[in-house]
Amino acid sequence: MLGSGSGGNATLLSHGNAHALVDAGLSCRDLCRRLEHVGVEPGALHAIVVTHAHGDHTRGARLLSRRYGLPVYSTAGALREWRVSELQDWRELAPSRPLELCGLRFEPCVVPHDASETVAFRIDTPEGAVGFATDVGAITAELAALFRGCRVLVIESNHAEDLLRVSPYDAATRSRIASDAGHLSNEALAAYVRGGLGPDVRCIVLMHLSRVNNVPELAELTCREALDACGRGDVQVVVTSQDKVAPPVDLETWAQRCLKEAV
Ligand SMILES: [Zn+2]
Ligand SMILES: [Zn+2]
Repeated sequence: MLGSGSGGNATLLSHGNAHALVDAGLSCRDLCRRLEHVGVEPGALHAIVVTHAHGDHTRGARLLSRRYGLPVYSTAGALREWRVSELQDWRELAPSRPLELCGLRFEPCVVPHDASETVAFRIDTPEGAVGFATDVGAITAELAALFRGCRVLVIESNHAEDLLRVSPYDAATRSRIASDAGHLSNEALAAYVRGGLGPDVRCIVLMHLSRVNNVPELAELTCREALDACGRGDVQVVVTSQDKVAPPVDLETWAQRCLKEAV
């Protein structure tokens, strides 16, 4: 995770020598700097996948795409809302059609959020599946089904409900964030963990933490408590940050560990 939060989101997905960015919501300069920090030349990217048209997911996409000749995938609805000019190589991401990228299978699913055709993904890799849902107002039955069998979940933990209630944001913004078309709270994620976390999940990556309405320690604690409550204290929790690149999640390591445990 190169960065995550309302100031900009970008996740690097690497499979062998193939790399793709899911969202490019930091400036092009910042994206390049963070890619170099993790040892990936921006020119080595294969594609940019945009989950939805909000600026914190698209900010650097056009320039990065133009500079390095990268295709940009998004839904048609997201493209319409984005109103981007000079996007030279746009490719449609059909919500019902899986996409092959970097040798991996991306299965999209439309999720509730206040942007047109926002998508989450299940990304199947030889070492297990990743569920990816940033900016999701509620975990729908369809999303829960998509996440079934995933080894890693990368998911929003946007706000603490108590902190949002006393937030300096105006009432309309607060109710938009709290609604099913807004952002997922620490508590809503914890309820999902307690009620429906798949047995294969080994790691949960908390995304899109609000600087104003959340505290990283509180997001982690809420998730940890939910995991402990359902006897899943062995699941790793990674908290992403707006300012820093988060530690990488290595599926190969998880796969090897699972193999050892099975012996
Ligand atoms: Zn959004
Ligand atoms: Zn966002």
